[in-house]
Amino acid sequence: MTDTVTPDARSRMMAAVKSRDTGPELAVRKSLHAMGFRYRVDKRIGKARPDMVFARYRAAVFVHGCFWHGHVDCRLARMPKSNIGFWCEKIERNMARDIRNMAELAEAHWKTAVVWECAIRDRGAADVANEIGNWLRGGKANIDLAMANRLDKPSPRSSPTAKNPIKAARKRK
Ligand SMILES: [Zn+2]
Repeated sequence: MTDTVTPDARSRMMAAVKSRDTGPELAVRKSLHAMGFRYRVDKRIGKARPDMVFARYRAAVFVHGCFWHGHVDCRLARMPKSNIGFWCEKIERNMARDIRNMAELAEAHWKTAVVWECAIRDRGAADVANEIGNWLRGGKANIDLAMANRLDKPSPRSSPTAKNPIKAARKRK
């Protein structure tokens, strides 16, 4: 089975998905702002460039597109049917960078939140913003917000490759 769009068109679609200031992310930022939180969107911490930096709370928030950051067990992270090697390479690079960023921030004593795109779609921006607000005020540990019940049929524990979209795609190839 081949992809229904040309690689070129697919590339443009994916590039659009990747851009910052996407609708759902903006909605979360607006909600947080309305709640009185102030943040920077263009601040670098070491090599990391979080989507929101709350310096007062020494907290950084990343909003991750599920496809681009290889969200495990997430239906928004399904691989296209063609050019799998191309997408895997890009996504693996992103995932490796995410891990480095988190380690660097932890070392510098920043707390981090990862907000997956699917959480915003599933729960709505206001709900997600509320949880971030509570975390900013009181949370000490890092958090990871995702849609509940991400896959219709959860993959069996005995099949670790099925849980990781990249590994599963590579296996299919
Ligand atoms: Zn997701």
